[in-house]
Formats: sequence, structure tokens, C-alpha cells
Amino acid sequence: MSDIKKQVALMKGIGVSSGVTIGRAFVIKSVGLDLAHQCYLETTKTDNEVERFERAIQMSADELICVKKKMEADGRGQEHIRIIDAHLLILKDHMITGDTIDMIRAERVNAEWALKKVMDGLLDFFNNMDDEYLKQRSSDIEHLVNMVLVNLTGRKKASLSDLKSPAVIIAHDLSPAETAQMVKGTVLGFLTDAGAKTSHTAIMARALEIPAVVGLETITHKVETGDMVIIDGTTGTVIINPSKSVVNVYKKRKERYENYGRSLFHYKDMPSETTDGERISLLGNMEIVEEIDSLLKNGAEGIGLYRTEFLYLNRKDMPTEDEHTAAYETVIRRMAPRPVVIRTLDVGGDKLLPGMEVSDEINPALGLRAIRFCLKNKDIFKTQLRGILRASAKGPVQILLPMISGVDEIRHARALIEECKTELETEGKKYDRNIEIGAMIEIPSAAVITDLIAKEVDFVSIGTNDLLQYSLAIDRVNEHVAYLYEPFHPAVLRIIKTVAEAANKAGISVGVCGEMAGEPEYAIILLGFGIDKLSMSAYSLLRVKRLVRSVSIAQAKELCEKIMEFATASEVEQFVSNKIPDLYKEEFWS
Ligand code: PEP
Ligand code: MG
Repeated sequence: MSDIKKQVALMKGIGVSSGVTIGRAFVIKSVGLDLAHQCYLETTKTDNEVERFERAIQMSADELICVKKKMEADGRGQEHIRIIDAHLLILKDHMITGDTIDMIRAERVNAEWALKKVMDGLLDFFNNMDDEYLKQRSSDIEHLVNMVLVNLTGRKKASLSDLKSPAVIIAHDLSPAETAQMVKGTVLGFLTDAGAKTSHTAIMARALEIPAVVGLETITHKVETGDMVIIDGTTGTVIINPSKSVVNVYKKRKERYENYGRSLFHYKDMPSETTDGERISLLGNMEIVEEIDSLLKNGAEGIGLYRTEFLYLNRKDMPTEDEHTAAYETVIRRMAPRPVVIRTLDVGGDKLLPGMEVSDEINPALGLRAIRFCLKNKDIFKTQLRGILRASAKGPVQILLPMISGVDEIRHARALIEECKTELETEGKKYDRNIEIGAMIEIPSAAVITDLIAKEVDFVSIGTNDLLQYSLAIDRVNEHVAYLYEPFHPAVLRIIKTVAEAANKAGISVGVCGEMAGEPEYAIILLGFGIDKLSMSAYSLLRVKRLVRSVSIAQAKELCEKIMEFATASEVEQFVSNKIPDLYKEEFWS
């Protein structure tokens, strides 16, 4: 069928990995679930059915082991490999295999049907939870059940290994195992019905620099293999069967995006210095080791925010002290001699740790999160602190405490750090005795008392993602209030200014590690407020360096003085967007 007869459609989803891609679709359908029909068995046949089911489980386990070996051979990081281990555990879990076997015997139904019924029960259970992380886990179960169903019926679904030429992958959801097998070049991009910014698939797409849009809900119904598709991963736009003129528009956009990206490498080894000679540290944010290559390629001067939550997820037990040490040492080694800021566990409330009971907090974002959780669960906290301290013997490390609301929390955390130091000393284990401790400023109460906090820590780092959430009272993951998420809100500007001034007055370093740091139009304001460390994703590093090298602190300060006079975010935005081209001739936001 020619493209002209096909229906053109435009869809908007969540852009999780930037870049533009134009290519033919390759749809991976979840055939397994369609194969589960109900049949009743004679009593004598149930043992055979159980055996057939157990064989399919074993075949699925063998497939996962194969994927794991391939990932190990390809040198993929422990985080990815651990996901496969977690899948192997889920596969053998009694909740799936035991309950299915019980149902085959009790109701004398075929294995496909029993497995599907067991899965439906589990999915209902997970989907009724408010917890985003657990909801994500329900997709892991769906992937695994689908895999077993395919093995039960012997009918293979299209898989990434069937991909003969470069294509855009379309799937209901992609398992982390599938995403981890993607290779840039063959996989031009991917689109899924399911998914969110925090899904593993999204995190890996960014790490692999493959443009991706998730959360499209019905993309698998709208696209067939062979259809032409455009992905704009920056804006979350997808165009199905575009006209030639639209393809041409996006070809140009892709070319501009890529040329601009390439032209930025020119800045990689240049100092991050304003035109009036002020040095601004540009650091990287990371979750998994795979991001380091890309951060270094883009000139990161260190890690400004290592979100350690990933070490705790996708597993049934807690990471041991040795695992913490090993993970941090890997990052330190890869980044050496650059500094690494390790943020202690920022989980709790809406994110659950292995072995913890489901949170029943009404307002999880205001609940037992981050430092509050750690101070209440001292064993978990101290295991991580000891791991960080031991790793600090190998290179420059700083500890960053998240969600600080007042000085007590810092004193309490510092006392535990001292306790860990004494223990290590007694055990004859090495660590950096002068390790610096910092506080994240992301709660308005902490922002207001930055002068007092500055007396207790060596540095502060502003987490603008949460600072906006808490100061503007908007849930950062709720799409209904997303329009209120305004970094240019005068209140936000005043708060950041207060924090920067107090930290500068106290003579301690002040950085920003929230998303604002990576956007040039906000970064210029941060410079004007006196912030000298910006930490961001690999994608933003050279874009922001280009800005830094094009403006003077005097110009940034002047801009800040002007914008403080406006009453609304849109007035500030309009002023900045009119003013910036004067300061910064070339277009830098795309
Ligand atoms: C922030 O809140 O700005 C931040 C950097 O932390 P996270 O996004 O991990 O909450
Ligand atoms: Mg935060």
C-alpha cells in the first residue's frame, strides 16, 4: 500500500529521550496474550499440563539467562544485569508458577488460561496501587507472562532479533531486557503505549541516546510494520504516515538538531568560563553507570548528582555495604580525577524499597521520604554511608543529603556519618577523613534558613524540581497541574536568589542540580544570582557551556535585576526571550 492512502496521524506522548528520527515502523505485537483461550481438561491430563507449563517456564528462564550472558559479554553495567536477575526471580515466584499450577489442577483448565488468570489477578493488585514504581513492576510481570505464553504455544512473536534493517520500534511496552539489547543505528527510535519518565526503558533510552516517546496509549493500534513514522523525542511528538512536506520539515529539523549537536563538540575541551572570566563548573547528573560515557563525551567536569536510588530498585533484597562500595568505586574510577557527589537514598513515600510494606501515606511527597526515611531506618542509611565512606578512599567524593527541611536533620545525619567513621577506623578500613557533606535545598523551609544551614555543611545544591513542587504546591508528576510548573514564577526566583546570596555570604559553594540547570534560558538567571555549579544530563552540558561562554556575569546580573521587577512568570519569560538574543546571538533553544 502506498503511503498516500495511509491515514496521517499526530500523537503526543512523553518525550523521554531527545532527538529526531524518521523511519519505517517495526511493530512488536504481544501475541502471547492473544493466545490464551480457555479449555477444560480431563482429570488424567492435568499432570501433563503442569509438565508442559513447567517446560515453558524453564524455556523462558533459559532465554533470560541467554540475554544476561549476552549483556555480560557486551560489558553492560550491573544495573541492567540485575534487572534480568529480578525477572528470573519473578518467573520462579510462587505467586506466578505455584498459583498457576494450583489453578490447572483445581479448575482443570489449560496452562495458558490459568497463567493469564493468575496474571490478571496480580495486575489488578498492582494497578490499584498509587505507587508509580510498583505500577511499573506490573509491566515486568506482563512481559514475563507473555514470554511464557509464547513458549507454551511455540508461536514466536516478532522480536528485536528479527530486525533486518534500521527501524523505529513500536511496542505496547518494552521490557528492560529488550531495551538493553537495542543498538543505536539499528534501532532508530522507539514508541510505546505504556511508560513514564521514571520507567527503566526511559532511563535506558536516554543512556543509549535513542530518541523515544512513551505513554502514547494506543500507538500499537495506530501503526503497522512498514508505516513511515517521525519521532521528535524532545517535544514528545509522533507523526504517523506524514506527507512529503512534513517529512521535509522534520528532515531539516533533524539536520539542524544533529548539526547543532555536532557543532557543540567544538566546546567540549574549552573552559566553562564567562566572557568576564568567571569559572562555572558544569557537572553531570547520573543514575546508572552507562551514562558516564556520554557525560564524559560532553565534557562533564565531574558528577554533581549521583541519584543512588537505582541501586535499590529491581531487587528483592537491600544492597550490601560491599555492593554500595563497589558501585561507587566504579563511578569514581571512571570519572577520575573528577569529583563525584553521591546523594544518599532519596526514596520512601511513593517509592518502595525491597522488603518494605506498601506505604499508606495520604501525601507521600510530604511523607517519609529521603532523609526522613533514612533517619528512621538507620541500618539502611548506615550501610549506604559506610559504602560511600569506603569508596571515598579511592577518589574525590562528597555526600549530598536530600530533602533537608531543617538543621536537626543535618546534625542527626552528621552524627551517623561520624559513627560510621569511628567504626571504619576501628575496623582499620580506609576513608577520606575530610569528606565534604552538603545539603540539598529543595524544601522552602530549608531555602529560607540557608544562612543557618550553611553553618552546618560544606556546600548546598538546589534541587529545583522539588523546590518548585513544594513552593508552588504542585505535584511534579501530575499532568493536570503541569501548567503551574513555572521556573520563572517570581516566588521561585526570589527563593533561589535568597539561597544563592546566603550561601555566597557564608562562603560555601552553591550549585543547582534540578532540571533548571540544564536549560540555557534558566541557566543564565542562575549565573546572575551567583550560582557557580550547574549539574545536568549529558544532553544539556554543551548547550549550557555555549551559553556560559557567550555571556558575562555582569550581563546575567543585569538581566536578573530586571526580571525581579515582574509580577508573573509569563512576563518574565517574555522579557527573557526578547532580551536573550541580544546577549546571546545564536539560537540555542530548540
Ligand atoms: C530535584 O528535586 O531538583 C532533584 C535534583 O532531585 P530529584 O529530581 O531526584 O528529586
Ligand atoms: Mg529532589
